[in-house]
Amino acid sequence: MKYYKDFDLTNYNAYRVKAICKNAFFPENEADLTALYTKKQDYVLLGSGHNIICSKPYYDADFIIFNGNFNTLKVDETTSVIEAEAGATILEVSNLAQKHSLSGAEFFYDIPSSVGGAVVMNAGTKEGETKNILTKVRYLDLADMLVKEKHNEDLELSYRNSLFQKQNDKVILKAWFQLQRGNAVDIKSIMEASKARRWEKQPREYPNCGSVYKRPPGRFVGPMLDELGLKGYRVGGAEISKKHSGFIVNVGNATGKDILELIKHTKEQVKAAFGVDLEVEQRII
Ligand SMILES: Cc1cc2nc3c(=O)[nH]c(=O)nc-3n(C[C@H](O)[C@H](O)[C@H](O)COP(=O)(O)OP(=O)(O)OC[C@H]3O[C@@H](n4cnc5c(N)ncnc54)[C@H](O)[C@@H]3O)c2cc1C
Repeated sequence: MKYYKDFDLTNYNAYRVKAICKNAFFPENEADLTALYTKKQDYVLLGSGHNIICSKPYYDADFIIFNGNFNTLKVDETTSVIEAEAGATILEVSNLAQKHSLSGAEFFYDIPSSVGGAVVMNAGTKEGETKNILTKVRYLDLADMLVKEKHNEDLELSYRNSLFQKQNDKVILKAWFQLQRGNAVDIKSIMEASKARRWEKQPREYPNCGSVYKRPPGRFVGPMLDELGLKGYRVGGAEISKKHSGFIVNVGNATGKDILELIKHTKEQVKAAFGVDLEVEQRII
């Protein structure tokens, strides 16, 4: 298992906010992970870091990171099931599915995420959500240090939410996705079309963590912010994207504090003008 002291997290959070943590561990398998948690339990857990705001420049804490490690994938041609370790990306899941003419994971193609992060967030697009294809999750329960499995119906999966957000004493180890037989060429074209549509609307040219807020019932975040003239509004190096107001982009050396202040200002303005309490989708660490 790789391990680093005073580890720079800049390339491990998609906002590219500069932050250092005391120690970073990159477990390769379940045994590594269990060994870490047997020693102590207060780690900060990161997947691919595409939905987190680093609020501090220095963390006097130990991080466990699943990014480029703990990432084995297996496909079962007979049952059309893909088994994926938590550190695999969902891009890899979707590419593997396509290669084996399996349909259902096309919407995974353009969501930057680890498998673990996708389960925690019930990641999804208009075309589908993790809940639709996830059958089972294997996890380490820190309450009793046992490895357990739960099926889809017991995971409390709802819009950008799951059991794992409510109970953060559970570390996702593996997930199983049920797909269906399809046509590889058609699957590829659905993946590419969805990606093209998204890149047209999203500010991919700047570091960002996707939609900052959950969609409030009956409303769209972007148009509310546009109406308030907040498009392009900046705090330090953090800016409400000029391309898509639902995103915050790092236009130059943004700090976590800049992002959080921008969020605070936006939430206050939206509450005052529309009476809506915006809920932040991103995880603040
Ligand atoms: C350009 C862009 C576009 C995006 N588009 C979408 C979209 O269309 N739909 C969507 O849903 N999201 C979208 N996102 C947000 C992001 O991709 C998802 O939220 C993604 O699922 C986050 O996964 P991650 O591995 O990066 O998680 P991280 O950001 O690393 O972590 C998120 C949370 O999960 C926890 N976690 C991570 N791994 C584990 C584990 N193994 N066990 C337990 N807890 C764990 C972390 O502690 C943290 O609380 C987008 C982001 C970007 C940058």
